[in-house]
Amino acid sequence: MVPGMTLNCPQGWNRRSPGFALHRVHAAAGRRPGGCGPPAPGTKRGKGRMTTPVIDFHVHPIDYESYGQATLEWIRDLQGEANWERMQKYADPDAFCSLLAENGVDYAVVLAELSPAASGTCSNEYVAAFCAGREKLIPFCTVNPHLVPDGRTELRRLVQTHGFRGLKLYPTYNHFYPNAPLLYPLYAAAEELGLPVMLHTGSSVFRGSRLKYGDPLFLDDVAVDFPRLRILLVHGGRGVWYDRAFLLTRLHENVYLEIAGLPPPKLLTYFPELDRVADKVIFGSDWPGLLDVAGNIKRIRALPLAEEVKEKILGGNAARLLGIEEK
Ligand SMILES: [Zn+2]
Repeated sequence: MVPGMTLNCPQGWNRRSPGFALHRVHAAAGRRPGGCGPPAPGTKRGKGRMTTPVIDFHVHPIDYESYGQATLEWIRDLQGEANWERMQKYADPDAFCSLLAENGVDYAVVLAELSPAASGTCSNEYVAAFCAGREKLIPFCTVNPHLVPDGRTELRRLVQTHGFRGLKLYPTYNHFYPNAPLLYPLYAAAEELGLPVMLHTGSSVFRGSRLKYGDPLFLDDVAVDFPRLRILLVHGGRGVWYDRAFLLTRLHENVYLEIAGLPPPKLLTYFPELDRVADKVIFGSDWPGLLDVAGNIKRIRALPLAEEVKEKILGGNAARLLGIEEK
């Protein structure tokens, strides 16, 4: 059982006392960051040549302020209750940075989520505090268009107040079509601010998600109407629309194929011509949905692709998107 959680809340939700998670991360933030600084300058791998950093573009904090009941049950089934208990130490950002280092990850994009009707809630404020002062951790905010009257103002506020470096949207969990007019002010703001925007596409195991909103084809409208907006097709149309995700990535200069949650040995089955979009494939793990990040990286390195392509997938492309310099 996770401290602070109850499994039989009448609303079917597991709520901590308000501000519980935020309090914990603020307490940790007062300490000197350990292992959270940038990779040592001049760090070299391989045969002494400068290499690109490894960037995990898709991690969630372990310490959601509330999980959907089904989400918590899924996670506990997947990890086992004892292991899930042990993993709670990664609510400390310094411990999490150490975990990244152990897995060979130089930087990680940490995602906020406001999906009360599906997977759960991890607020923008929590993610901002978790990443504050830690160069390895790159905070991405979220805007649930049903919860704010004006997405453009909200995004500007989040960036100015907390320094977010990108936006993650959850159409299947928040129940909106990605090309809905409601979203356009938000896209306009992201384009003006130069923020990459991640959108969940394809399937999800979480109850409350609605697959129809995850069709990548809706992003064609967005890419046409906002040609400078950098759009990441998260999970590459998982399970249903790999072909559409690939086609959109080929078709639009600023559409990227994000591969979190896809088993690396299957990548070339899902995307047989992956190397044709080599400059736009982005690695992510979806931790803690997947624990063995190092193993995932190893399996990508084992794919029958050119070494240069694998470097791009594991961090080169993401470094360009995020403005991170090569080591
Ligand atoms: Zn995820």
